[in-house]
Amino acid sequence: MKLLDSIQFLRGVGPKSAAVLNGLGIFTLQDLLLYFPFRYEDFKARDVAELLDGEKATIGGAIVTPPNLGYFGARKSRLTFKIKQDERVIGVSFFNQPYLQKQIEVGQNALVYGVWDAKRQQISGIKLIAMASAAADNDFMPVYHVKEGLKQASLVKYIQTAFDEQVLGQLTENLPAELIEKYRLMARQEAVKNMHFPTDMAAHKQALRRVKFEELFLFQLKLQALKNKEKSGRVGLTHVFSDADMDKKIAELPFALTEAQARAVSEILSDMRAPYHMNRLLQGDVGSGKTVVAELAMYAACLANFQAALMVPTEILARQHFKNLPEIFPELHIGLLVSGLKAAERREILADLASGHLRMVVGTHALIQEGVDFYNLGLVITDEQHRFGVNQRKILREKGQNPDVLMMTATPIPRTLAITAFGDMDVSIIDELPKGRQPITTRWIRHEQLPSVLEWLDGELSAGTQSYFVSPLIEESEALDLKNAEALYAELSEHFGVRARIGLLHGRMKNDEKDAIMIAFKAQKLDVLVSTTVIEVGVDVPNATVMVIMDADRFGLSQLHQLRGRVGRGSKKSYCILVANPKTETGKERMKLMCDTQNGFTLAEADLKMRGSGEIFGVRQSGIPEFLVADLVNDYNILEVAREEAVAAFRNPDKYPELLSEIAVDDLFD
Ligand code: ADP
Ligand code: MG
Repeated sequence: MKLLDSIQFLRGVGPKSAAVLNGLGIFTLQDLLLYFPFRYEDFKARDVAELLDGEKATIGGAIVTPPNLGYFGARKSRLTFKIKQDERVIGVSFFNQPYLQKQIEVGQNALVYGVWDAKRQQISGIKLIAMASAAADNDFMPVYHVKEGLKQASLVKYIQTAFDEQVLGQLTENLPAELIEKYRLMARQEAVKNMHFPTDMAAHKQALRRVKFEELFLFQLKLQALKNKEKSGRVGLTHVFSDADMDKKIAELPFALTEAQARAVSEILSDMRAPYHMNRLLQGDVGSGKTVVAELAMYAACLANFQAALMVPTEILARQHFKNLPEIFPELHIGLLVSGLKAAERREILADLASGHLRMVVGTHALIQEGVDFYNLGLVITDEQHRFGVNQRKILREKGQNPDVLMMTATPIPRTLAITAFGDMDVSIIDELPKGRQPITTRWIRHEQLPSVLEWLDGELSAGTQSYFVSPLIEESEALDLKNAEALYAELSEHFGVRARIGLLHGRMKNDEKDAIMIAFKAQKLDVLVSTTVIEVGVDVPNATVMVIMDADRFGLSQLHQLRGRVGRGSKKSYCILVANPKTETGKERMKLMCDTQNGFTLAEADLKMRGSGEIFGVRQSGIPEFLVADLVNDYNILEVAREEAVAAFRNPDKYPELLSEIAVDDLFD
């Protein structure tokens, strides 16, 4: 048979199984060979002395007690017996597998696969392994994802048949010989064989390393190809402006730039001056001062006689920028474009953008809608970029005259994700906070302790500080038992009485109402702001120093960190109070982690480990692909190497010419 023969011609595969296999993406024998197990069970007997508590393993020993079968509940049973390994007596229990009883005989040997409990020195059995299969040299059992209508055993049989048909020999090597040698990678055919039928643990490890490298390397090649296409294929704009003008503006700022800010500015400016299309990600923890970097880039575009646009995810944020920009650039005409504008206002803004009268514009999604035409758009910046999906990034890239693009994110993206999701972009990092910031003290309390926090707040408020209270949902949802913002508002109003002026902000309010509240809070006409998560991103009120987050365990770590970042923005001591009664261990762990670390990157990494990449950004939205064998968290080292090699391949295109000519980038983010 041939490698690319249809699966339905394989011995033993009927039309029904063929259809199920197709549903798993298996159409040809090659697809079948490359359909790897997602995990393996290791049935090789281990010495209990080396097992960790909670580890899954197989142990063996002589059976020393007769089996004891007890029933409880409706149909539940527990089978127990003891085995002896060396001089150790180990308890074995099997739940709900009463039929195993007849296989247990004192004096015989038993092999048990299960979960090791080190404290009690016992194993909770998952599988009793027949002695015959234990004697065979294959200690691994591959486990495949299957679907209804297809059993594990059948799939294994098909794969075995494909191997019998000798098609593996037709599978061609797809990595350069140089890399195989350099990283001592297993050859492709051997690796595929060992993925399905590993000869031993060592061979299996090597096979896995090889296929992970292959997967990540080929993906990184695509990203690099995309990046190269951006840089060479499309000619971008060249911004011409003088350093002297820039320096003058920088000197007029109310503060000196941090070193990290200055570095980011200079990286961005040199991209803007270059003839290629800028595609840069500016990453910096909350409060690190990304805004001023963006403003300076916009200024450079204006100096070069182009227009600059700043796109932000919420109207509140847009209005905040619209209010601040003229303070730094009183000489420029600046516009605001949001969906809440009156028709006449909107018409005027659009006309002024098209005529070039407006030099800078700040807005929401409204900016990328149809009918918005620029006179000569030179630079587009998106703030809190993870809020915008891959598609919106694309629309921006393709907008108008191919402007330079800068994306900013305060969601600290772990490096693993950054180089997968944003590998096609250049990255600037602000890794330092402005001077004089004090660490934010974070405390986790339970709901019952809220009164004592309120008492403490009384004191803080009389000293003139301001505080936020965040509640996760606006509508009462009994099922989730969340306190809604209105109830919280009522509760706080009752507690503080005349001692505090309290405002309420939620997503259902009209834009001008939201505006009025934010302005009042910023002007210190309100002491306490009760809000849903609409304030999550970007809001900047340096005088606010206390952030209380209700039901904090309902948020992801990155989101909590964002919320916490609303305080600690000035020189005053700030506090973040997490109010939560988490029910799970992970929930408790997350609260503790928040108290122990201020570092957004550490938290994002932890979030990634606890919840997976999809949870952080939403896989589809962020463009992070799902890998077949590689794991972004655990295969970080391989990913780094794969990326380095992909970058090197493009720097040196003669190195593997066939490889590069075959890379197609169009399917990358589909
Ligand atoms: P983020 O990176 O979260 O968007 P912002 O740009 O909103 O942060 O900056 C946070 C606060 O720090 C703002 O009040 C801003 O004016 C101030 N800030 C920014 N850069 C500096 C600096 N170099 N020195 C002092 N304060 C700064
Ligand atoms: Mg910001």
